[in-house]
Amino acid sequence: MTDKHGLQQLKNIDRDMILHPQSTPKEVSTNGPSMIFSTGEGIRFTDMEGKTYIDGVSMLWNVNLGHGNKELAQASYDQMSEMAYGSQFYGNSNEPAIRLAEKIVDKAPEDLNSVFYTSGGSESNDSAFKFARFYWQLKGYENKKIIISLKWGYHGVTISTQRATGIKEFRAFSGSSDPYIYNAIPHLTAAEQGDRTHPDYEKSIRGLIEKHGSNNVAAVIIEPIQGAGGVHIAPDGYLEAVKVLCEDNKVLFISDEVICGFGRTGKHFGVDHWGIVPDMITFAKGVTSGYFPLGGVILSDEIKQAIDTYDQDIPHGFTYSGHPTGCAVGLKNLEIIDRDELTAHAAEMGVRLQQGFDNLEKKHSTFTHSRTVGLLGAFELMRDRENGVPFKNHENESIAGDFVSEGSKRGLLIRSFDYEEGMNILAVAPPIIITKEEVDEVLSILDDTLSFIEEKWL
Ligand code: PLP
Repeated sequence: MTDKHGLQQLKNIDRDMILHPQSTPKEVSTNGPSMIFSTGEGIRFTDMEGKTYIDGVSMLWNVNLGHGNKELAQASYDQMSEMAYGSQFYGNSNEPAIRLAEKIVDKAPEDLNSVFYTSGGSESNDSAFKFARFYWQLKGYENKKIIISLKWGYHGVTISTQRATGIKEFRAFSGSSDPYIYNAIPHLTAAEQGDRTHPDYEKSIRGLIEKHGSNNVAAVIIEPIQGAGGVHIAPDGYLEAVKVLCEDNKVLFISDEVICGFGRTGKHFGVDHWGIVPDMITFAKGVTSGYFPLGGVILSDEIKQAIDTYDQDIPHGFTYSGHPTGCAVGLKNLEIIDRDELTAHAAEMGVRLQQGFDNLEKKHSTFTHSRTVGLLGAFELMRDRENGVPFKNHENESIAGDFVSEGSKRGLLIRSFDYEEGMNILAVAPPIIITKEEVDEVLSILDDTLSFIEEKWL
């Protein structure tokens, strides 16, 4: 156990020697890290100060089996002891990668029967963009390069995937190095169905395909339930309309399932809620419950067969594509999800969470727009929800940000989305092993926090 002095030393080293991802450099390089994680068990983790929290968003929506899972640790130990690493380059392979591919394909919609491995979500989406463009090139469509994504979609932080991310700050940070990526306005079901009188028709996926010409468009990428943009669920009819649009225009449909995949939403994949069969599914996070960095692309037979005709090396692949240890952990993770029926469990716990949200809405006047698909959920805070009046920020602080810090004082860590003034979304996505009693505990902390926050902000 590190004593107080040792802990301060660690914080100082972190402050001076680590540049943190997705953090505010001025803040961290002045104050040091906000929390140093130490141990975890089930839905809870403890920091080095000794305070225990419920992990209300499964860290980054990835620790789906919760913390401290010894079976996953053992799978990793066993594989590392046998052969920790071997590459998939030059046509080589390893047993865990093969067995995991079989398992993933078994869960994927029909016609998606092969896997390309990566080390995470950004690499998966970047690979899918390349495969889409390569596929069309092989089919004789040299110009089909454009990728269309949606506002509030989050697809990663490589130059291309960050450009595809429909959140202003992210798109701006990536520069303009991939000129073939466009952002459409999401969820315009009528526009996507062909209603040209829709006021935002030109900014819809359909409008963008028309504007640029289908001969120039390679693919559309969509998260069936947008995560980091604020947990926005595709309305019924939308994905279906986009799918038809893609088919009519020879445009590939990529479903980014980096958050939605492997049980979190109460089905294997997000698209399963609408019966959509995409051309590619990208995955990461939940495939190993975050115990090892692993991701990939599941390819349709059509794409795989087209690529299989290519008789030269494809100059694409990552050192850790098909990492044996990662794949062994992934395989064990998916076996546990099946054995313990955790996908159905996530659906059931999601219903309980939504019922709890509905009760909170009755009790708290600021609580609104709650939504869940399995254990991917969110709610919003508004000053006057009947008249749609949002909360204004206090100096630089939003009510959503304040809610997160007040929640964490009460032992629950969740995540806020306040990209714009007036946007106050809070995401709740606990590990899918959560019990009924633990869902109620989360709801009770939300209830307390709401009472406190309403007193302070109204
Ligand atoms: N796609 C989605 C939907 C995500 O939520 C994320 C990460 O949060 C990514 C892609 C990027 O994944 P990674 O951070 O593993 O590169």
